[in-house]
Amino acid sequence: MDYGMISQIEKARLYADEPERVTFKALTVTFKGDNSTYTITLNESGWHCTCPGFQSHHICPHIMAMERVFKPMLKIPPLPYAPGQNVVSDVEKAVRYADERDRILVESFNVTLRGNNGDHAVSYDRGAWHCDSNSFRLRGVSSHTMAMERILKGMLAEPQKV
Ligand SMILES: [Zn+2]
Repeated sequence: MDYGMISQIEKARLYADEPERVTFKALTVTFKGDNSTYTITLNESGWHCTCPGFQSHHICPHIMAMERVFKPMLKIPPLPYAPGQNVVSDVEKAVRYADERDRILVESFNVTLRGNNGDHAVSYDRGAWHCDSNSFRLRGVSSHTMAMERILKGMLAEPQKV
């Protein structure tokens, strides 16, 4: 293994231990709730979930769980509770869901990662990685993509079989 690669792996470990370096710009997740599976998205207009609760209240336990799991990497305030929302039951669900990460399948995302030598844009789409760093151009992996793999371990959707 070349020295450059070893240094990329060391940096990936460091970055993964400091998740506040990461900022999610966009995210698409398949979320297994207790009764159904929903799609959660985050983009410049905020959170969205396909569940009925979100349609009524613009907040739901699925997004509240995502806010817990991704907290240091979301640089936006949590969604406010809504009138008529069953806050006690939703908080209870969100806490439980956040401990059950196999409910979360990350389909795609865009992040910026603050590396030691500057910010890098990393994206993922069902198995396809991209990063704007030199290391990624040279090797097809970088400290930034490897850090995101560590952070999202067990939650990344695999490439779709054709
Ligand atoms: Zn929801």
